[in-house]
Amino acid sequence: MTEKYATTDAGAPVPSVEHSLTVGPDGPILLQDHYLIEQMANFNRERIPERQPHAKGGGAFGHFEVTNDVSQYTKAAFLQPGTKTEMVARFSTVAGERGSPDTWRDPRGFALKFYTSEGNFDMVGNNTPVFFVRDPMKFQNFIRSQKRMAANNLRDHNMQWDFWTLVPESAHQVTYLMGDRGIPKTWRHMNGYSSHTYSWINADGELFWVKYHFKTDQGVEFLSQEDADRIAGEDGDYHQRDLFDTIEAGDYPTWSLKVQVMPFEDAKTYRINPFDLTKIWPHADYPLIDVGTMTLNRNVVDYHAQIEQAAFEPNNIVPGTGLSPDKMLLARGFSYADAHRHRLGVNYKQIPVNEPKVEVNAYSKDGAMRIRNATDPVYAPNSMGGPVADDPRRVAEAHWTSDGDMVRTAYTLRPDDDDWGQAGTLVREVLDDEGRDRLAHNIIGHVADGVKEPVLSRVFAYWSNVDAELGKKVEEGVRGKADQ
Ligand code: NDP
Repeated sequence: MTEKYATTDAGAPVPSVEHSLTVGPDGPILLQDHYLIEQMANFNRERIPERQPHAKGGGAFGHFEVTNDVSQYTKAAFLQPGTKTEMVARFSTVAGERGSPDTWRDPRGFALKFYTSEGNFDMVGNNTPVFFVRDPMKFQNFIRSQKRMAANNLRDHNMQWDFWTLVPESAHQVTYLMGDRGIPKTWRHMNGYSSHTYSWINADGELFWVKYHFKTDQGVEFLSQEDADRIAGEDGDYHQRDLFDTIEAGDYPTWSLKVQVMPFEDAKTYRINPFDLTKIWPHADYPLIDVGTMTLNRNVVDYHAQIEQAAFEPNNIVPGTGLSPDKMLLARGFSYADAHRHRLGVNYKQIPVNEPKVEVNAYSKDGAMRIRNATDPVYAPNSMGGPVADDPRRVAEAHWTSDGDMVRTAYTLRPDDDDWGQAGTLVREVLDDEGRDRLAHNIIGHVADGVKEPVLSRVFAYWSNVDAELGKKVEEGVRGKADQ
């Protein structure tokens, strides 16, 4: 093996990796010890702002292969039969900081970037099919309620339940969170969902609404609250370690992508508002259709460069795919790119993990940390042969029509648009007796840990609205603990 010699960042050999340059062995350090100064300066700048939220996470590279034919719904090149596309995935908790334990109860981020032949496509999903709020005005405050109080810098269950019980549309997601799926056994043992409704468009210009479901082929498995608490103390990086070690051992995790497809016209009259992020589309109404398989088979070599700097954003869409009138999705289209510009700088798409594999012909120019050379002409329109728009692949772009006065109001209610119904269905029709017991147990433990009046009474009412029996169990359990 050839011996490697250490260099400065400029590639010049360094005289020592052990001793700084001084005047005599006991004398002062000299300013011209550039290597020492470079090392200290680099160290001081190692941390970049952590993500707000989803700070703690990990991921890997892999590929996505289409195994079925969904060309009747989308013309996207990466979704055509047999197509194989390179990708990167990042999994995360939401509320915890960068060093927080992987096994805290929380939804998990499930962010994917596909390096398609038509540009990057990102699906920035979660391991749950719904979310706590349906209007982006509430998002920032929701996250603040899950993080830390101003004075004591502590997380606080009273604050969390205060927010949740004042926001009844959270009930479906909170039910999901407090159940088994709130602490996955590993990242390999959880599903990923787009949660949002997106659109697809086929080669004939027909538009469909679509929800993505990445179902784990490892099986959905969970940790009990007690095991998760213990592991949080023993190994805060439990999920990170599991993914890395499993891939290192050649045991590659896979997920099967399935979609629910809603014909464009159905959305106007469907009994549930199909763009409401707090609702699922029942499988009986829109069955899952197979699309393909995602495999993670390559670990990153530099966590910071390839995962900490990986920038996922729901507005990365490619021809044949599109957004929908989901207000949360549209707001995320702005906020994710804005977060990346803040954390990584305006040229974050030139960082290798974020770079598309296709030729980039953008008119963006200059800015901090620009890596790729711009080429003339640097403006459009131009008569110098610069890139033009209206690529035929973009023709008949996904669209919808809307009219009316400018308003600040909730979605128009549909017959089945109440906030409690789907949460109640989950409790009564999906969970078995043991699952319901664990749900009650988890809620009781969480609420008994610091929730006070007047929030407490609202918690009991909240769960009674989801399911009368569960509400009773929660109240008895919490009061019982208080009496102990
Ligand atoms: P189904 O009986 O067809 O689907 C129920 C789904 O619930 C399952 O397919 C599974 O989804 C999921 N599930 C199973 N066990 C649990 C659990 N312990 N915690 C959370 N989810 C679980 O009924 P519907 O489609 O009519 O949905 C009924 C309820 O199921 C919904 O109100 C919703 O709360 C929940 N659900 C529905 C999903 C959907 O997209 N329709 C997805 C997930 C949950 P999966 O296979 O995706 O794991």
